[in-house]
Amino acid sequence: MAAHSGPAQAVILFGPPGSGKGTQAVLLRACLNLPHISTGDMLRRHIDLGDDIGTDVRAIVKAGKLVPGDLVNRMVERRIAEPDCERGFILDGYPRTLEQAEVLDKLLKARGIAPVVIHLKVDYNKIISRLAGRRQCPVCGTLYSLATNPPRIENFCDKDGARLIAREDDAEPVVRKRLEEYEIQTRPLLDFFSRSNYPSHDVGTSPRWCKKA
Ligand code: ADP
Repeated sequence: MAAHSGPAQAVILFGPPGSGKGTQAVLLRACLNLPHISTGDMLRRHIDLGDDIGTDVRAIVKAGKLVPGDLVNRMVERRIAEPDCERGFILDGYPRTLEQAEVLDKLLKARGIAPVVIHLKVDYNKIISRLAGRRQCPVCGTLYSLATNPPRIENFCDKDGARLIAREDDAEPVVRKRLEEYEIQTRPLLDFFSRSNYPSHDVGTSPRWCKKA
């Protein structure tokens, strides 16, 4: 893919927890030069800050459930109104319910932004083992996998040396709950995308977006 220059586009990265939405979003951001909007990262920032929103959602995120749609819709609406989103953006973890998809559809139509869906398909058993070995840098957000992409020095970020953390919601019982939420609330959106004629691409693990220079 080349740097994005046509009409404004919303790239919707869609897939179960642990399918690699965050990893692919970082690669796409570099290729397309579009901002990456992750509702999960936004919520975790509130939780880390311990502000009102963080206090309200902390227990819900920790339990692997979805936070109220109103809150997430407002966060996204405000974020995509910022000037760096004029040429488009990459959505990671949003929309996740039919109600969120309908809100987004209206926002995109009002702004003349065309959606495209990238559906990351990964086997659930692979997801459970992958998330057990996922580590993240709390400072720069870089993701590591103990099995396939470990840090050079065990437990420490290659980029800034911070001690890596495992997300609280990556514990296996919580991952199972997140997968259940995905099956019930989120996966049915594939029908909505298809009914709404959103261009959609199915990809397996480790797609390569950028041609090597
Ligand atoms: P993953 O896709 O791996 O579950 P995310 O970082 O996208 O990870 O989300 C982590 C958690 O944040 C979710 O389990 C949920 O509690 C909350 N969350 C993120 N995005 C949304 C959303 N669009 N609607 C409701 N809850 C959300």
